[in-house]
Amino acid sequence: MNKAHNLYIHVPFCMSKCNYCAFYSVACQSPDWTKYADAICKELDFWAEKLGKINIPTIFFGGGTPSLMPVSIFEQIIDCINRKFSVNKDCEITLESNPGTLDKEKLSGFVQNGVNRLSVGVQSLNDMELKFLGRRHDVKTAMNLLENAMNIGLRVNADFIYGLPNQSVQNVVDLCKGINTLGLSHVSMYELTIEANTPFGKMNLDMPDNEEMAQMYNMIPQVLSLPRYEVSNYAKPGSECQHNVNVWSGEAYIGVGQGAAGRVYFNNAWFEQRGNWELFNEISDDVRATEKILTGMRTMRGVKLSEDVKNKLDFDWINSHKDLVEKTGEYLHTTNTGLLILDDIIVDIVK
Ligand code: SF4
Repeated sequence: MNKAHNLYIHVPFCMSKCNYCAFYSVACQSPDWTKYADAICKELDFWAEKLGKINIPTIFFGGGTPSLMPVSIFEQIIDCINRKFSVNKDCEITLESNPGTLDKEKLSGFVQNGVNRLSVGVQSLNDMELKFLGRRHDVKTAMNLLENAMNIGLRVNADFIYGLPNQSVQNVVDLCKGINTLGLSHVSMYELTIEANTPFGKMNLDMPDNEEMAQMYNMIPQVLSLPRYEVSNYAKPGSECQHNVNVWSGEAYIGVGQGAAGRVYFNNAWFEQRGNWELFNEISDDVRATEKILTGMRTMRGVKLSEDVKNKLDFDWINSHKDLVEKTGEYLHTTNTGLLILDDIIVDIVK
């Protein structure tokens, strides 16, 4: 029996493009959903043939805007997964969503078909900011969706963006205080980054400088009532996103859909799989160990010191930089000081 694989299913459609977005997604008001579902099921068939009836611990529908998908299409894809694989009984099934695309009835349709975790792109608690970001919803619509999702018993995440032009550290403190009133068990806080091929990339925006950004970043865990468990993610212990935790800790995952990437394990080897499922390259155990360090060190728990990981780490550097990295049990992780220069540390700790 082959290893268990987590599933990531990419849904590449959005109602329109947000001003900051460099993700792979297309603005399309009426996608050909049947064609989409057929393509996804074909890819799933391919992997089932290759890997057999493997266990699936988590399924993550990411986008784009997966909540745009008709429930019948979601059902078709889930049926296909259930027929081809052995989906764990307690499988976490996440659906990414945008406010304004998911009313109570549609949400309950997704839940009836297995969704047990909803991630909502709230982004801001200020209507002017939402408009500026090019979001289609307002705060009230977002709050309704969060409320509906919690009432129906889902585990709920909300995504937020901070570090907007002219935003002050105090604004971010106020944002966190506002988030604390929402009763969420999981929050993602992303710093606004300006990407070249986006509307924001073509504007000359007055962004907070690096020092202000660092102050905002440091302020978040001091005000937010949820502990940070990864660079951008905060959760009540036990409410972490299991899919991401599995991927970050080096478990195998399949990316299905054009914008998806995966790390697949078969024939005793790791394969990189990106975009098109027919294209995948074998990656050495060495490269895989380095990847585990890159993702593991982004988590507060750190990277597990398994033999392959230990072989790739520079312990001379680690032992002489105890202010930046430390060992707790079987894990190596950054200190609070180290977290701020994580990208530099990762270069230094890998041999
Ligand atoms: S909804 Fe998300 S994926 Fe779609 S354009 Fe906006 S940021 Fe990008």
